[in-house]
Amino acid sequence: MKVGKIVKVSGPLVIAEGMEHARIYDVVNVSAKNLIGEIIEMRGGSASIQVYEETSMLGPGEEVRTTGEPLAVELGPGLIESMFDGIQRPLDKIRDAAGDFIEKGVSVASLDRERKWKFQPTAKAGQEVTAGDILGTVQETVIVVHKIMVPPGVQGKIKKIEAGEFTITDTVAVLETANGDLNLTMMQKWPVRKQRPSAMKLTPDEPMITGQRVVDMFFPVAKGGTACVPGPFGSGKTVIQHQLAKWSDVEIVVYVGCGERGNEMTDVLNEFPELRDPKTGEPLMKRTVLIANTSNMPVAAREASIYTGITIAEYFRDMGYSVALMADSTSRWAEALREMSGRLEEMPGEEGYPAYLGSRLSEFYERAGKVKCLGKDGRVGTLTAIGAVSPPGGDLSEPVSQATLRIVKVFWGLDADLAYRRHFPAIQWLTSYSLYLTSVGQWTNANINPAFDELRASAMMMLQEEAELNEIVRLVGFDALSERDQLKLENSKSVREDFLQQNSFHELDSYTSMNKQYKLLELVLFFGDEAARALGEGVYLRKILALEVREQIARAKYIKEDSLADFDALRARITADIDGLIAEEATASA
Ligand code: ADP
Ligand code: MG
Repeated sequence: MKVGKIVKVSGPLVIAEGMEHARIYDVVNVSAKNLIGEIIEMRGGSASIQVYEETSMLGPGEEVRTTGEPLAVELGPGLIESMFDGIQRPLDKIRDAAGDFIEKGVSVASLDRERKWKFQPTAKAGQEVTAGDILGTVQETVIVVHKIMVPPGVQGKIKKIEAGEFTITDTVAVLETANGDLNLTMMQKWPVRKQRPSAMKLTPDEPMITGQRVVDMFFPVAKGGTACVPGPFGSGKTVIQHQLAKWSDVEIVVYVGCGERGNEMTDVLNEFPELRDPKTGEPLMKRTVLIANTSNMPVAAREASIYTGITIAEYFRDMGYSVALMADSTSRWAEALREMSGRLEEMPGEEGYPAYLGSRLSEFYERAGKVKCLGKDGRVGTLTAIGAVSPPGGDLSEPVSQATLRIVKVFWGLDADLAYRRHFPAIQWLTSYSLYLTSVGQWTNANINPAFDELRASAMMMLQEEAELNEIVRLVGFDALSERDQLKLENSKSVREDFLQQNSFHELDSYTSMNKQYKLLELVLFFGDEAARALGEGVYLRKILALEVREQIARAKYIKEDSLADFDALRARITADIDGLIAEEATASA
């Protein structure tokens, strides 16, 4: 076998000569330590290799061998509940093999080779099958049925298929193909930098319900859509990504911790097994795959981690599932890209990022979508991608934010001021947007309440009016406002505090169903309307604001999901109290 030789080591970048036989994107083994790397540039026989492990022990003259294969992930039962590094090595296994700091090449299989899974065929011998057709199923966890599919590019007639207990490398079906018999196992491999095929792209039109009020009500993301959450340090990016991973009404979650502090991933690891999926009551880890490439791990694997994550997500989408992928943070990923580009001495673009930053980002987000999957049953799968962006100083004019905003359809802009005032989630309602409002609005009107869109629009209008009124207050002072305008400010404050503010760490507030969101916002607006009615009848504003029922409105967010009738009782109480004030006023002035 041909081998190349290292001529230069520059951080995670290694240059090897004598590599004529290799190709760009080949995975290579570097030195006798067998470090894993990937060729990211070829010039004649000189290969530039991005090495996914600590390179400080490497030196010129050491050998480099290509595997002849691109960087690929293993796809099959055993993915769920796993925690992988950026190149899909199971973190617990490499820790056992190499300790906390991975310094040498540890070759461990991504998926467990020993474990047996109960394979239940759904296809029969004699059947003609093509890519995407389902051969059978494995109950992977209590909530996930893993569908074993014919891999892309394969077709033939099933010669043999059997139920039984198999490892992922055992043959579960034999296909008669044009090129002879083909043994199929429960595992596929797929190169991470290549999108997995689907039959057709569809338009995302159903909301991904997150239980986060500001998201679902004001800035919804569609299943199969894309969103970004930019914000300065401490504004709540990680908390919101965790909330989405916990509560979104999707079947599979892939969480990529990319370049952020290690303890944030530890939080996920400690919390998720405790948390229960509201739909099934099972631990959330039973539907989750974690990819961790935290700040203390080699920088090059961070570059690969989002591709590893999205390939796994696509694979579950191909089964016809709704999948959500969170990446925290894409800025750290872009920094890894910049570092590699700098070491390659490429022509730098804005702020040192390579000119291809934008195209790499769009290649990533383009893998999200709602699709008709391969396979004859016509199933539909969705992959929603949500990236955190951490612009230095929170300044969105920097290249990563700008490139991301050109691609994604939802912008949840986190605001340092709001976070400082402890208004959480700190999503700025005046600047954030969702381009799915129209399509998702039809769904919510049809499925939650026919007046959903109207309610959302009224509340949004109140917040915009508040901004205008605040301008006036700044110029002439609060007392110059009419009582009607003062009431408007009270009402919009109630929208902000009683509806938008949501404490992720409060048991009853962490998640709000769509029905409850509707009732809560409706209640807040109803009080505003009733208060305006009283004002019209001559009642003093201070009397209206002194009503005790306002405290109950402020606590309405804690009404339990199984006590939604309490909202109707509260409405009745508001009407009674307002009627009382009007009657009092009538007697007083008579
Ligand atoms: P970032 O990832 O943007 O640096 P974090 O997500 O770690 O910021 O949030 C910083 C802190 O803000 C959290 O530790 C928490 O105290 C607070 N916080 C953020 N969002 C919420 C929320 N929805 N409810 C309560 N506290 C929050
Ligand atoms: Mg964070």
